[in-house]
This record gives sequence, structure tokens and C-alpha cells, in this order.
Amino acid sequence: MTRVLVIGGGIAGCMAALGAVQSGAQVMLVSRAPGATALYAGGMEIAADLREMRALASSQPYHPFVRLGLNDFELVTLLDEVCYRVQEALARAGLRVAGNWRTTGWYADVHGGVRPAQLVPESIQPGELGALQGKRVAVVGLSAIGDYDAVATAAALEEAGIRAVPLTVTMDLMQYPSQSALVSRTAPPSL
Ligand SMILES: Cc1cc2nc3c(=O)[nH]c(=O)nc-3n(C[C@H](O)[C@H](O)[C@H](O)COP(=O)(O)OP(=O)(O)OC[C@H]3O[C@@H](n4cnc5c(N)ncnc54)[C@H](O)[C@@H]3O)c2cc1C
Repeated sequence: MTRVLVIGGGIAGCMAALGAVQSGAQVMLVSRAPGATALYAGGMEIAADLREMRALASSQPYHPFVRLGLNDFELVTLLDEVCYRVQEALARAGLRVAGNWRTTGWYADVHGGVRPAQLVPESIQPGELGALQGKRVAVVGLSAIGDYDAVATAAALEEAGIRAVPLTVTMDLMQYPSQSALVSRTAPPSL
């Protein structure tokens, strides 16, 4: 059996490890700390459409989409497959993710901005700005979570034409584990 060592446990390493496992390899994944993947805001931006990708190709010759050296058909097929595999792998771990690379939704982010995303957790999808039009929205901040700004998020929604009211709620939360505690956690038995 082929043995594969993957270094890095962000989304790139996890998808590489998953691909190798599915090809029948025996895989070991090592990672020294949570990386950018652990910080992402909840919505994955992939690519809006082929036009955007062609623009990337002409302005950024070293962009990963360009370096793959694929034609439009191959790129579309690959993106379909990648979205499917991400969703399938996360669903097996209990996280259901909605959308695909062709569907762009707009979401208020934690910093008071509005940003696009193609794949989002199902729990986030009802917050897509189009679905909130005509509704009154309460944006709830928890005082124990200092880096979430409900006022800024409500202001971003208002700018997008949605009636939004910021509220702050006091709640006793269990102690958050430190990043080092997360790193030393035992890996699940199988992917
Ligand atoms: C604050 C923030 C917010 C973001 N928000 C979004 C978002 O909302 N939507 C979106 O689509 N993208 C977002 N991104 C970008 C996205 O998170 C990254 O593009 C993506 O997660 C990169 O994945 P990766 O696997 O390449 O790298 P990482 O997730 O950084 O993984 C690399 C891993 O390799 C490990 N490693 C590195 N060197 C070694 C070594 N020598 N030995 C062992 N392990 C090693 C690191 O510890 C790390 O765990 C965000 C990024 C940041 C920083």
C-alpha cells in the first residue's frame, strides 16, 4: 500500500489527505498549529464565474486556477467535484454546507462589511441578504464574545436595505479552549 505524509491540516492538507485516502493510500496528516482555515468567517469564496477566472488568469499568471493548466470544461468539472467532496466530507463530520461554486450569496460579516460566499454552513444560509429583504432582523451580540460587533453588523445590513436592530445579551459561556488545547486534541479515527 502507498504511504502518504501530508504536512498541514488546513483545508488544502485535509483535501489532499482525503483524496489520497480515497485512492487507497495509507495517510498520515501532521499539522503544527491551526492555520488560516481555522480563522475563516464561515462562508467559503470559490469563484464567481468563468469570466472572473479568465480575468484572474490574465492579471495573475501564478494564480492556482492558472497553474492547473485546465480549459474551461475541465475547470468547471473540477470545481463541481471539489464542492461535492468538501460538502460530503463535512457532512460526514456533522457539518452540513449549502451552495456550490455557481451560487453566490451575500452575507453581513462580523466586521460590519458585506461579502460574497459560495459555500456556507446551512445554519448561515438563511442570513443571505436577499432572503432578509422586507424582514426585521435582530443582530445579537454576546458580551462574552468581545470580537463580534453587533452594531457594525446591523449597520451593514441597514446599508443593504434591511431593517436591523443590534442587541447585546449577557450570557455565561463555558471557557473557550485555547488554540494549543485544540491542537493537542486526538484526531478522529477516520476521515
Ligand atoms: C482571518 C482570515 C479570514 C478568512 N476568511 C475567509 C473566508 O471567509 N472565506 C474564504 O473562502 N477564505 C477565507 N480566508 C482564506 C482561507 O482561510 C485560506 O485561503 C485557506 O484556509 C488556506 O488553507 P490552507 O490549507 O492553504 O492553509 P492553512 O489553513 O493556513 O493550513 C496550513 C497548515 O499547515 C501547517 N503547517 C505549515 N507548515 C508546517 C510545517 N512545517 N509542519 C507542520 N505543519 C505545518 C499550519 O500550522 C496550518 O495548520 C481567510 C483567511 C484568514 C486569515
